[in-house]
Amino acid sequence: MAKKYELPPLPYAYDALEPYIDEQTMRLHHDKHHLGYVNGLNSALEKLEAARESGDFALVKHLSREAAFHGSGHLLHSVFWPNMAPEGNGGGGEPTGELAEQINKDFGSFANMKAQFSAASNAVEGSGWGLLVWEPVGGQLEVLQSEKHHNLTQWGVVPLLVLDVWEHAYYLKYQNARAKYVEAWWNVVNWADVAERFKAARG
Ligand code: MN
Repeated sequence: MAKKYELPPLPYAYDALEPYIDEQTMRLHHDKHHLGYVNGLNSALEKLEAARESGDFALVKHLSREAAFHGSGHLLHSVFWPNMAPEGNGGGGEPTGELAEQINKDFGSFANMKAQFSAASNAVEGSGWGLLVWEPVGGQLEVLQSEKHHNLTQWGVVPLLVLDVWEHAYYLKYQNARAKYVEAWWNVVNWADVAERFKAARG
């Protein structure tokens, strides 16, 4: 049986990230967009299950792409929500401890990492994401862009901090001013969550 995915609830109220991310955007983004990925993933997996049962794999290329697209959307949004917290209540500030040390080692400073992450997030085209990832082969942090989120930019990396820069993530409040959204977003980054992901990824 194909696993059934469910939409995880937000770990805070819809208006908790105001004024940086508005309630209406959060309601649409979580309840409509993220739910769409969950439903799309379940639908693709059900159809693949039916294909295995019938032995008819005529649509396997399309369904594999659907599973990758919606599955990546579901996974990245599942990192994105807990990556944020209300300003002053877990959100904002700078990382500490081993995560801060690794950022200093791999980027020179937190300010360097933040500048590169913002620039990457501002520049990525289309259905993009900015990502801080753990690259387990070399054992270092990297900042990447995901231009099409179903095409992982480096296989095997573990996303630690992700920023959704699809227009649906900011357009109601920021219109075409993506850079203002990216700058405001740093006020709600949950570094404790990022540090937990870092610890788990590094093992
Ligand atoms: Mn999104």
